[in-house]
Amino acid sequence: MTLGKDQNSTMNYINGKPFVYADNAATTKISDEVFEAMLPYLKEKYGNASSIYSIGREAKIAVEHARATAAKAFNAQPQEIYFTSGGSEADNWAIKGCAHQLAKKGKKHVITTVFEHHAVLHTMDTLTKEGFDVTFLPVGKDGIVNPADVKAAIRSDTALVTIMYANNEIGTIQPIAEIGAICKEAGVLFHTDAVQAAGNVEIDVVAQNIDMLSMSAHKIHGPKGVGLLYCRKGVILPNYIDGGQQERGKRAGTENVAGIVGLAKALELATQNIEKKVAVITPMRDKLIDTLLKIDRTRLNGDRTRRLCGNVNVSVEGVEGESLLLMLDMNGIAASSGSACTSGSLDPSHVLLALGLKHEVAHGSLRLSLSDMTTPDEVDYICEKLPPIIERLRSMSPLWERICREGN
Ligand SMILES: *Cc1c(COP(=O)(O)O)cnc(C)c1O
Repeated sequence: MTLGKDQNSTMNYINGKPFVYADNAATTKISDEVFEAMLPYLKEKYGNASSIYSIGREAKIAVEHARATAAKAFNAQPQEIYFTSGGSEADNWAIKGCAHQLAKKGKKHVITTVFEHHAVLHTMDTLTKEGFDVTFLPVGKDGIVNPADVKAAIRSDTALVTIMYANNEIGTIQPIAEIGAICKEAGVLFHTDAVQAAGNVEIDVVAQNIDMLSMSAHKIHGPKGVGLLYCRKGVILPNYIDGGQQERGKRAGTENVAGIVGLAKALELATQNIEKKVAVITPMRDKLIDTLLKIDRTRLNGDRTRRLCGNVNVSVEGVEGESLLLMLDMNGIAASSGSACTSGSLDPSHVLLALGLKHEVAHGSLRLSLSDMTTPDEVDYICEKLPPIIERLRSMSPLWERICREGN
């Protein structure tokens, strides 16, 4: 596989064919700066951060420097940052850890929403089996949680509220500061899965009253397999992995030094100039949305403006998401669908169903997620390829025929 660049445009090519990566909500390409920052810790500075000779000490210094950088990105303190293997682990640790801790005080109620990432939803399944009572708040048709619902759901035995900062499928940004204030007033812990939001939205854990926050490096041009949990000082967080003294004894195991350095670099770059990045990506997102909405019987999923600058999620009636993805792939476009058939299940996305979409509409959904590496040429390419693909699929679809006949 050879990646190439056209001299006259900002398109990427694989084996001479256009390649457009539009699945940045799934993962992102590591940036050159991040890769360069990591390399020394994979090669010459390979020491164990717990060792006392110089390459060990250098590794230790790098980890602590990364901790300070990561803390700064969220207005947290370095001692409030715990490095993990990613967003899923941070979610599991925060939620299970605090739920178990507070259950000892008779608090066995947890509040979340129906449209969380599976790292949170499946953690709730585990807690339910353990005897916790979980309230799943609904989301509005616009994909936004109503803070008044959070307030109304809090009980005297509520241990924790966990609500994602921005949704990974439809990109909607939640009123986190309002929810944080409600939780603070009620004396309930507040955790947010900010894996999609970090680097795309200004986050201030102090101003927004966030007690715990999860993020992951690979969603912001960092390496896979590394993330962090911010846990406010004073919140009792049980150990996650017993063993050595790493992460203040709470998560043992020799540090993933290169990964941690990469995470910090990615976070530093991503949070450096969010406003500018949003200003560059938003018009590309809006062009895609406008192009898709011009097509008959399509709808945008999630609020038009309160969404991540790089998220497009559109339902296209009369086509199946999988067929759409295959056709896009044949044209070199990597995207994602709102249905989960590829993961072995025929159920449409729980997120789209939560918005009130009918099964067959949810099945024909497409997510295009952009990053600051996406170029206008790539967006133009998608805008050129997508409409004829949809037309072609519809022309072969019995479902589309029925929709046209019944006209409802
Ligand atoms: C990707 C993602 C995760 C999982 O993060 P990993 O680092 O892949 O474990 C969790 N929550 C959200 C919202 C995500 O988008």
